[in-house]
Parts: sequence; structure tokens; C-alpha cells
Amino acid sequence: MTGRRIRGSTQDDVRRHNLGTILTEVHRHGYRSRARLTAEMGLNRSTIGDLVAELTEAGLVLERSASAQGRAGRPSLEVVPCPQGAYVLAVDLGVRHLAVARVGLGGDLLDRVDVESGRDWSDLDITVEAIAVTCARLRESAPAGARCLGVGISVPGVVRHEDGLLRFAPNLGWVDLPLGARLGERLDLPAVIANDADLGALAEHWRGVAVGYDNIVVMSGEIGIGGGIIVGGRPLRGRGGYAGEIGHLRVNPDGRACRCGSWGCLETEIGVDALLGAVGRPADSDMEAYRDVLSRVAAGEPDAMAAAARVARWLGVGVGILVNTLNPDIVVLGGPLGELFGATAGIVADMSAQCSLVAPREQVRLAASALGPDAQIIGAAELAFAPLLEDPIGTLTRHAA
Ligand SMILES: [Zn+2]
Repeated sequence: MTGRRIRGSTQDDVRRHNLGTILTEVHRHGYRSRARLTAEMGLNRSTIGDLVAELTEAGLVLERSASAQGRAGRPSLEVVPCPQGAYVLAVDLGVRHLAVARVGLGGDLLDRVDVESGRDWSDLDITVEAIAVTCARLRESAPAGARCLGVGISVPGVVRHEDGLLRFAPNLGWVDLPLGARLGERLDLPAVIANDADLGALAEHWRGVAVGYDNIVVMSGEIGIGGGIIVGGRPLRGRGGYAGEIGHLRVNPDGRACRCGSWGCLETEIGVDALLGAVGRPADSDMEAYRDVLSRVAAGEPDAMAAAARVARWLGVGVGILVNTLNPDIVVLGGPLGELFGATAGIVADMSAQCSLVAPREQVRLAASALGPDAQIIGAAELAFAPLLEDPIGTLTRHAA
């Protein structure tokens, strides 16, 4: 993070960049002292004071004295997000769940509604309406004057980066749907949409167990399994935004049919249904049933342990492939996979070690998500905040218009 003098750019560009840098730092870390901003951005104190004043004037940040933290000497001023300054709506749409939250600048989850779990979200009109009604409820309960800057949507499918078209969500039966555009129109808000695993990776990178790492793989999902990959600190998108579909790596030539049209895909071996199937439960059971199996594993019941071990070995195979291919610092297991990992960490680690080379294996850490079921909400909120963090004043001006 530096306050750069950008070559060939105007003073306005430089100022916009510096305002964005300060707001991003405050948003990510919850607070930043003026002294630290001054040192890290390489700008002088009066310039930082001037930039902070502009963000304060815009109602985005506040300054408070840091003396309360017991430091000697003259108290430094700390810049913090203005709690009522701006918020976004974040939507986590799963195959069997829907959650909508109001998230404030600084990343605080201010309010959250979980819409009737266990419902089938394959009908687009019903889904758009359910999301819109819930968003409206959350906006009504927001304090007067709080600005809603947009909505970020996490979906269990393949999203075209260019325009947010949902190309394929096999577990919802959706093909080529403009879900983001439909919601944006319905809510009269800027709407951005992205793959759930990509957003999970973003959330872990900024606020979860992968903070401080630049090479990250996050495997998550319920029925379908997705991968969110960050390489050298940047999301790996591929040509169209479709990279990371690790759930559809065909690992078992003798495996079951997958909803993508192939068979033996990794997600048919490690998804929620795989564990339920291995203990003879119907595939359309809910997360309660999944957690029930895991608690039986914890209690040492042989049937449940054998089933979990089988799924954990396949999870280890998947992790090993990713370790060899990407040489990550950390592989994060999110959602139900994180819960499974909690019960079978040794088996997953052993199998992934058998399936990967020594050199990359020595460098990788395996971890369960620290964000649990909030990862997609947090990632979707980050997506919706991105324009504000890029250009704070310009985004507020466009919002007011
Ligand atoms: Zn598949």
C-alpha cells in the first residue's frame, strides 16, 4: 500500500487513488492511525489530514483519539469507519439456502435474514422476488440517512466476469440467466454477482484464516463443490471468469453421474450428498442430517466413521491435485467441507500427502474456514463495496444522482 504518484495521471487521479487507499485500509482493518497512514502511504502529514477530512466530510469515516489504548505521549488520531456512513446488501444463494445481510463499511454484519431454509431455489422468478422482498425489509430497518450503495450476490454457479451473466448453475438447473441484472433492476441498485467459491476465497483472504497469504485455494460448497483461487494476491479468473471449477475434476472413472453431464467428478465424491449416501441417507436431506453424521463420527460410531473416512480420502485426493498444480500457501476448506475436515483432519492430511509432491507439500497449510457460514456473505459484501473503495467520492456522487 503506497500513496503513489501515478505516471501520466492528473492530480484528480492521484487524489482519487489516495482517497481509495485510505478508505480501503480503514475498511479492511477497522481502524488506522493517521501516523500509520502517513508512514505507509509515503505522503506528508498535512496531505493525509486533508484526505481524511474529505472522507469525513463525505460521512465515510470518523476520527477518534487513540489515547484510550494506554499509549504514552500525545494521543494519535485514529481513523475509523463511520458506522452509519454507507452499507451494502449481501446475498448468499445456495442450492438449499438463501441469506441476505446488511453489511456496513468496516465489514460489520449489521443485520441478517435467513430465508426459509430447505426450500428449492431453482425457479428464477420466485428466487428474484424472495431476494428483493428480503432486501427491501433490510433497507427499511436501516437507520434514516444510511446510504445503500449496492448489492453483491454469491451464487453456486459459473459466472461470466465480463457482465455477470450466470452461465451455468448445474445444481439449480440454471443456464445463461441474467440474475444480477434482474435483481439490479428490481432493486434499483448496482448489482454484482460472482461465484460462491471465488467470494469465499476473497473473504478468507481479507478477513478469514488466509489473511497475510497471497497463494490461496478455498474449496467449499454443499451439493456442488467450487474452488476459489488466489495467485500472487490476485484472483485467478481464467479467460472468461470460469477458472476454479475443481468440483468437476474427474477423479473417479468408476464414479457416479454428475449434474454437469460427466461422471466421477470430485463433487460426487465429497459433496454433502456423498457423505449422506455413504451412510444410506437420502441425497436430498438437509445440513441437519449431515451434521448428525459428523456428530456420530465424533462419538466413534463405526458406520459413520467408515463413511466419513471414505469421503475424507477423496477430499485428500482433491487437495493433493491442487497442491501439485498451484503450490499454495494454504488450502482452506469451507462450509460443510470445513466441518468434515474438523472430524477427519488426519485422514485428509495423509491422503493429500500421498497425492502430492514433497516440495509443495512442505509449504502448504490445511485449515478449516474461520468464517464458517458467513464467508459468502462477507465476500459478496466486499464485491459490492469495491466501487466505493476504488473511488469513494465519485461513487457517492453517482449514488446521489
Ligand atoms: Zn461434474
